[in-house]
Amino acid sequence: MTAAQPALSVVVPMFNEAAVLPLLAQRLRGVLDGLGEAYEVVAVDDGSTDGTAAGLAALRTGWPELRVLRLRRNSGHQAALHAGLLRARGGYVVSIDADLQDPPEVIVEMLRRARADGLDVVYGVRADRSRDTWFKRWTAAGYYRAVRRLVGEQVPAQAGDFRLLSAAAVAALRDLPERNPVLRLVVPWLGFPSGEVAYERQERAAGRTKYPLSRMAGLAVESVTSFSAAPLRLATWLGLLGVAVCGVLVVVALLAWSTGATVTGWPSLYVAVLFLGAVQLLCLGLLGEYVARIYTAVQRRPPYAVASDSAVGVPAHPDAAELADSLR
Ligand code: UDP
Ligand code: MG
Repeated sequence: MTAAQPALSVVVPMFNEAAVLPLLAQRLRGVLDGLGEAYEVVAVDDGSTDGTAAGLAALRTGWPELRVLRLRRNSGHQAALHAGLLRARGGYVVSIDADLQDPPEVIVEMLRRARADGLDVVYGVRADRSRDTWFKRWTAAGYYRAVRRLVGEQVPAQAGDFRLLSAAAVAALRDLPERNPVLRLVVPWLGFPSGEVAYERQERAAGRTKYPLSRMAGLAVESVTSFSAAPLRLATWLGLLGVAVCGVLVVVALLAWSTGATVTGWPSLYVAVLFLGAVQLLCLGLLGEYVARIYTAVQRRPPYAVASDSAVGVPAHPDAAELADSLR
């Protein structure tokens, strides 16, 4: 393999990770140098505003395998990951978080499994989340239960974005027309032969989480609506339930009228109006969710913009021609 086609690419999305950068470089480099194979590390600087860019530039002077992809603005973890994956050149591509919660040593085991068993996808599965906060564990458990129900059992539980993909799997991702896919759902959906490697999720080595609750909720909504029309059906069922409840209320009102027990009549009216209003609002909200998806899909606005790519001979915008096509 030549340096231009490394055996392994490691994609690391990072947003304001200056604090963890030296630790990451030290551990990752130790592991990758030990492989004895050509590799590249694709650090995707997701529009950081701290010393991350300067730190990466400094590291690059003494680490030729480090490649820096800088996004023009903060585009989010999934978009940064996608940008890195699509531009990685390795025979295998591993994605890993910058904060050392996923131990880089596991990469060696992933690579070994992929080669020994001829796998295209190896998921890093969190065997022990005891180091995460109870809130994170609880929301994660709910998330995986929901997506496995909606997307299918092929989605491994407790597998985040620490995984190995073969060049073939990455090519399949590249061919997807979807611009901003939820990778942890789309990868199982591709249907490549896959395996799992269990690991212990560590504590963040330095710095603070870049995933506030609002972003976690955003990922959850995106996961469900990008893969399933089930919530739309929920609206239908709620509508039917509303009709049934109103039917019962009508019978009750008629019975009360026939026995002459009618009072002023306003509570039943009040309940029925409120209930129908609530059901309608909910259905409208759900419809809005899908209309919003259609809206963004029609816009075809790229979810991120690459400002520069330190790798020589690789255009910063490999998809520029395709983008121009789509805008015509
Ligand atoms: N990240 C990113 N862009 C963002 C937010 C996060 O590239 O807008 C990166 C972050 O630097 C880290 C990874 O995504 O490498 C996972 O984020 P974090 O560790 O903060 O999330 P948590 O592990 O707390 O869920
Ligand atoms: Mg983390």
